[in-house]
Amino acid sequence: MAKKESRAAQRERLLRKAAEIQTPDDCDVTVVGGGAAGLAAAISAAEAGASVVVLERDLECGRSILATGNGRCNFANISLDPRRFNDPQFVAEVCGSRWLDDVLGFFRDCGMRWCLEDDRLYPVSRQAASVRNVLLARARKAGVVLAPAREFQDASWIAPEHVGTHGPELHYDPAKSKNEPAGLAEVVHTLPLESLYLMPGSRTVIIASGGEATPFLGNLGLATAPRTPVLCPLACEDSPLAALDGRRAHVKALLTKKDSFFPSWQERGEVLFRDYGISGIVTFDLSRRAEPGDLVELDLVPDLNKSELQQLVDQFARGSFETGCLDGVLDPAIAIQLERLARELWHVEWPEHDAPATPSEALIKLVKALPFVVVGPAEVERAQVTRGGLLTSQFDPATLASRQHPWLFACGEALNVDADCGGFNLAWAWKSGMVAGEAAAKWALS
Ligand SMILES: Cc1cc2nc3c(=O)[nH]c(=O)nc-3n(C[C@H](O)[C@H](O)[C@H](O)COP(=O)(O)OP(=O)(O)OC[C@H]3O[C@@H](n4cnc5c(N)ncnc54)[C@H](O)[C@@H]3O)c2cc1C
Repeated sequence: MAKKESRAAQRERLLRKAAEIQTPDDCDVTVVGGGAAGLAAAISAAEAGASVVVLERDLECGRSILATGNGRCNFANISLDPRRFNDPQFVAEVCGSRWLDDVLGFFRDCGMRWCLEDDRLYPVSRQAASVRNVLLARARKAGVVLAPAREFQDASWIAPEHVGTHGPELHYDPAKSKNEPAGLAEVVHTLPLESLYLMPGSRTVIIASGGEATPFLGNLGLATAPRTPVLCPLACEDSPLAALDGRRAHVKALLTKKDSFFPSWQERGEVLFRDYGISGIVTFDLSRRAEPGDLVELDLVPDLNKSELQQLVDQFARGSFETGCLDGVLDPAIAIQLERLARELWHVEWPEHDAPATPSEALIKLVKALPFVVVGPAEVERAQVTRGGLLTSQFDPATLASRQHPWLFACGEALNVDADCGGFNLAWAWKSGMVAGEAAAKWALS
């Protein structure tokens, strides 16, 4: 039987393979980042006739796609709606009215087919590797040079008359070059294996470097909003239900801001109880909206109203309940903890006007509105998305070209755009990549 390759050996092999890839000295479009948005941009630019190089810091392109959707890649949603984003107007202008058709058409042309789970779209294989492989194959077929293990450092513009004689003092002058033919952007990147600095010229550069804070954006004179992790678990004030760590429940979650009496947001879905607070898809969406001190209330039986619950807990309103009375509607491990809490009522801090008069009333309240006070994001290293990045006001939504540097484009999470769970973030990555790729090719070839 073949011996499994060690991690170190795999890294060495991939680095050597990457080092063999020659990047041309001159191309129309350089894409910084070979993730979801970068690959969509590269394919769109190459199919529009441009010569394209993708510089990817990782050892292979498309690796970030493999982790998505728990390895199944929830690549879009049939209910794409800009209101699920932090910047709805910009997203609507970039993505247009045919957003879903454009994304599905793109993947149909890649040879991929999909299936639905609720509103979420997955590849029929339910394997993120399918999504990555069809993208890499289409990029190669279109002639894209995929150059992994290259970390982009910086770019500066060289006016056309200086191409060939350029030096570091020559920088882009937007006023001067407005109506001039394309010059070249000097792209600096490193190849870690040999610590080489390679400096190919490129007529345009597309920033598709994802959600990490990257110093080169500042060097390019672009303004960024600070990065904060979102789509992650929430740490909550000492939970009396720490024993539930690892249990899941299908809930309706309500968020009430700390300075308000009324919920500002609600959503149904799965919550995972953790000893530090809550996790799961509903919590991830909450994490985009919740701040320290906000109150999250979980309705653990959203399909039952209070009187139906009363029937199960204390039909004759005697004020008490029997052990196991909720086992038919709740995970018994959760039910037993809530029963314990309801009996030890005083462990829960109720607002005075809202304090339950009896243990059965307390149990019903806990089941319909289990309270958690938010401390802040948790397990941030595993956050699915970061908010922040390039301010969208600096980019033309029709082309995703920088208003300051017409040769510079951006797409995906590099921009200050984030959305709820459910395939919205990837749908943004694909569509914004397509827009930037097509526009960059057009600019480079004009
Ligand atoms: C665990 C997890 C699960 C997720 N699941 C889903 C899901 O199911 N559905 C969904 O819609 N969204 C999901 N997301 C979010 C989704 O993955 C992102 O929104 C999406 O990948 C963003 O695409 P992007 O191309 O902008 O960034 P990325 O995919 O992160 O790609 C950026 C690329 O740029 C490279 N790079 C960065 N800096 C440089 C540099 N200086 N030089 C060269 N290369 C550089 C990085 O290595 C990376 O490959 C998930 C995220 C995570 C972390």
